[in-house]
Amino acid sequence: MTSDSSLAGRTALVTGGGSGIGLACVRAFGAAGAKVHVVDVAGAEAAAAEVGGQAHVVDLTDPAALATLPADVDVLVNNAGVQHVAPLPEFPAERFAFIQSLMVTAPFLLIRQCLPAMYARGWGRIVNMSSVHGVRASPYKAAYVTAKHALEGLSKVAALEGAEHGVTSNCVNPGYVRTPLVTGQLAAQAAEHGVPPEEVLEQVLLRRAAIKRLIEPSDVAELVVWLCGESAGHVTGASLPVDGGWTAG
Ligand code: NAD
Repeated sequence: MTSDSSLAGRTALVTGGGSGIGLACVRAFGAAGAKVHVVDVAGAEAAAAEVGGQAHVVDLTDPAALATLPADVDVLVNNAGVQHVAPLPEFPAERFAFIQSLMVTAPFLLIRQCLPAMYARGWGRIVNMSSVHGVRASPYKAAYVTAKHALEGLSKVAALEGAEHGVTSNCVNPGYVRTPLVTGQLAAQAAEHGVPPEEVLEQVLLRRAAIKRLIEPSDVAELVVWLCGESAGHVTGASLPVDGGWTAG
């Protein structure tokens, strides 16, 4: 983890900052000197305490609660997300709607809420935590793949509208990262197929990646922080893969 002051004086709001990739982003922003608002239903206080930031225990699917979050930030990272795996004929409609609410509507509402202060300042950075599943599909992940593809579109519109105001918007597209979201899937699939988790990792999760290793959350976070620096000012409307070569194949 680099420790610098590249984001000193900046304020960042990270959703889903209590765990996994979001927590790694909180740590990386803290190390880069930014003030961090950590938004999560769980783990927000502990994450904020690590970096002297501020915790916001907010369910992002509740628009009234979301509206209480700080709107005057330099950096917005839309990261909170969940997975649900089921074949389409059995996919619960309410789970589908919940996932769109958390992973599409909440990012839209937060972007809408944060843009006026960014525009007034003439500077802003929006990073949307997409996925390989923002540009590729997998079976049984209808809600997640739909939401990530929608997030890609939202991110590009924000890039086009924000350009004249000094605001960039980008997606980061990880393959499988070592987080509770993935270790949970590993355990569930191993139990379902009666095979060891290592076998599920190699033969299912990493089947399409050229590099057969889980990605570390800190590797994703370093890219997020770079996107928020000055030298990334011309990178906008992009989708940056961190996928071990998955989408090259
Ligand atoms: P994670 O489960 O470790 O963290 C997700 C966080 O979101 C949790 O802390 C959780 O409490 C929070 N959250 C869930 N519902 C919420 C709600 N209603 N309101 C507020 N917070 C809520 O997962 P992760 O793997 O770190 O995933 C983070 C993001 O990265 C997600 O958008 C995910 O789709 C994306 N992603 C993950 C991977 C991976 O392999 N782990 C790959 C590609 C993309």
